[in-house]
Amino acid sequence: MTDTKLLDKEYIAPTYGRFPVEIVRGEGSLLYDNEGKEYIDMGSGIAVNTFGTADPLWIKAVTEQLSLFQHTSNLYYTAPCARLAELLCQRTGMKKVFFSNSGAEANECAIKAARKYAFEKKGEGCYEIITLKNSFHGRTITTLAATGQDSFHKDFLPLTDGFISIEPTEEALLAAVSDKTAAILFEIVRGEGGVLPLDRDFVKAMCRVAKEKELLLIADEVQCGNGRSGTLYAYMQYGMTPDIVSTAKGLAGGLPLGATMLGEKVEGVFTPGTHGSTFGGNPIASAGAYSILSRLDDTLLCEVKEKSELIFSSLLGQPGIKSVTGLGLMIGIETEKPAAEVLAKCRDLGVLLLTAKTKVRLLPPLNIEKELLVKAIEVIKTACREE
Ligand SMILES: *Cc1c(COP(=O)(O)O)cnc(C)c1O
Repeated sequence: MTDTKLLDKEYIAPTYGRFPVEIVRGEGSLLYDNEGKEYIDMGSGIAVNTFGTADPLWIKAVTEQLSLFQHTSNLYYTAPCARLAELLCQRTGMKKVFFSNSGAEANECAIKAARKYAFEKKGEGCYEIITLKNSFHGRTITTLAATGQDSFHKDFLPLTDGFISIEPTEEALLAAVSDKTAAILFEIVRGEGGVLPLDRDFVKAMCRVAKEKELLLIADEVQCGNGRSGTLYAYMQYGMTPDIVSTAKGLAGGLPLGATMLGEKVEGVFTPGTHGSTFGGNPIASAGAYSILSRLDDTLLCEVKEKSELIFSSLLGQPGIKSVTGLGLMIGIETEKPAAEVLAKCRDLGVLLLTAKTKVRLLPPLNIEKELLVKAIEVIKTACREE
């Protein structure tokens, strides 16, 4: 074992089942390990490295800010987060943004906003949030409570009260809504839960019920947002407008940044002192995010859709592949072999993949070169085929 692997095993809390690879550098959609082996990156650090590794434009934006000031605290005005908030609002129609550092925190803020809004609007006791089975919303005690997968809960009970998870059907939703319901929290594409896009009819029903019962709609776009789905945010493909949108992962292209966007209804919910974060809206992360977001234009998003179609058409119906699901460059593949076996084989052949539950998951950089993508697809096909 290399020193790094030994040190990691000795000193890092063993919460991760790591792959037996030490990454030392990268360039675009290629990564290199400590033995010089080259890999095609089909994971982007779990949908984080939007434009791959060491992207020159992103490095320029980040280092320019780094040389000015790296942090000031939220007691002062700073341009990078103000400009980023403006750009986010312009591109989404949302009214205000709260910045944090991760997806879980972006969701915590969304949950606090929904509870405060419901309390002020409907009074005490209206705090329940309906979430979906197989969702994933984070690892804090409250976002775990929101996560509709019991396997994540069992060691940490009791969790925060006030969350109910349902199957995404109209009947289940109607049965769950009551006078206590404040909001519905959903991922348009459940990522960790198996790359499952929501059914369009369910989304329509959800919007109708939310309107009738005056419930807030909260879109968790931590994974499917920031161009990943082929539109800037995935909800934009469903003809709906959430009241709150949370995002993180790919937003700053590799730096920690969470954003909770507040729509018209809830834009005034927070007042000074009601929420905060020391690092939230960090200037370096914000400068990185501004650069990323400015490049997520129609041309780029169109390319995401084309590459998505290429993956679907190349993999659907191939030997050893049972199904392909997803949206844009967020794709789940149900394979006949166990996903771990496919991942190991692809790793040997120089392609790094992810899993989502029992599926193989692809989250390549949005600007991956067509030739590299084709090469990775061929490797995946080879690995899925029976020997
Ligand atoms: C990853 C993820 C989170 C949690 O984000 P962290 O940055 O790990 O806290 C929340 N929601 C969704 C949909 C995610 O994919």
